[in-house]
Amino acid sequence: MGYIVDMGRVFLAENYKREELAFVKGSGTRLFTEEGEEYLDFTSGIAVCNLGHAHPVLVEEAKKQLEKLWHTSNLYYTEPQSKLASLLVERSFGDRVFFANSGAEAVEAGLKLARRWAYENFGEKKHKIIALENSFHGRTYGALSVTGQPNYWEGFKPLLPGVKFIPPNDLSALEKAFDEDVCCIILEPIQGEGGVYLLKKEFVEKAKELCLKYNALLIFDEIQTGIGRTGKLFAYEHLGIEPDVMCLAKALANGLPLSAMIAREEVIQVLKPGTHASTFGGNPVNCAVAVKVLEIVSEEPFLEEVSLKGRVLMEKLAKFQGVKEVRGKGLLIGVELAFPAREVYLGLLEKKILTTTPKPNVIRLTPPLIINWREIDYFLEVFEEVLKKVKK
Ligand SMILES: *Cc1c(COP(=O)(O)O)cnc(C)c1O
Repeated sequence: MGYIVDMGRVFLAENYKREELAFVKGSGTRLFTEEGEEYLDFTSGIAVCNLGHAHPVLVEEAKKQLEKLWHTSNLYYTEPQSKLASLLVERSFGDRVFFANSGAEAVEAGLKLARRWAYENFGEKKHKIIALENSFHGRTYGALSVTGQPNYWEGFKPLLPGVKFIPPNDLSALEKAFDEDVCCIILEPIQGEGGVYLLKKEFVEKAKELCLKYNALLIFDEIQTGIGRTGKLFAYEHLGIEPDVMCLAKALANGLPLSAMIAREEVIQVLKPGTHASTFGGNPVNCAVAVKVLEIVSEEPFLEEVSLKGRVLMEKLAKFQGVKEVRGKGLLIGVELAFPAREVYLGLLEKKILTTTPKPNVIRLTPPLIINWREIDYFLEVFEEVLKKVKK
């Protein structure tokens, strides 16, 4: 192992479980170590590099913007930021955009928006938030407080007050959780970190209906599902249900840190000067890259191919021995195994294929959306081989 891993092990906080692997270069679906070893990336940096590594159009765009302008603060307008906001609005339910730098920050912005909106329209009492068990919304205090996985809270309490958790897809729990004091409900159309679980259309429909009835906001966390990952630009398009607020991050700038909180006019208009801010949010370089990302990913033939590749992968995976269930949409796929996933993960790693295991029995596949059919065939071949080896 080279010095990169050695130095990292000494000097970095040990809050991540890292492989003893250091990458120095990426290209398309491939990552390369210092020694020149090549890995097939079925993680996309956790659903971030949707257009693969070092995409030539994005590299060119980043270089162009780097030479022009890096940062001005949000005291002024910049061309990339205005342009990206207009594209996001054109292609979504929303009317206006707030930019930040990470998923958690977009969630914070959404939660603050919901409370402020409720405060201005109905008063301070309307502050309660509904969230789902097994959800993931990020690690900052607000985002953590709506993340329905108690192991993430350990040692960090007290959390934000006023949050109620209900089981996903439980219609009666949903109905019971609502009252006049609820200001919002936050949902992931597909729980990615939770192990790739889809919300049922009836459940989201009911949430929308209850939001209308009780004057609450429907917030979709599309940080993992957005930007073409599921075969639509946004996963809510599969459900045919529009939220009031949506959070985006991960793939928005294909790996440059950028996030967005998008909302309807009547809602986001409560964010007057001074109510919320971010120094780096909407950085010109990241926004310029995101404009190109959106242009590429929004193309209908591109999205159709993502859907088709996802369907083929899911159908074939479901037939393998040892696979209990395959869940997902497009190229966000969870393979639930009949035994712990760790050995399969390690078997794939040994074959130089990178995957993630969000839950102990689930392998998650999030390859770059540009993956080709040959690579899909190769992956399936190796996966089956590894399964056979691990099972016996
Ligand atoms: C990754 C993720 C987040 C958190 O994003 P960060 O950039 O790590 O703060 C929030 N919600 C969902 C659904 C995610 O997948």
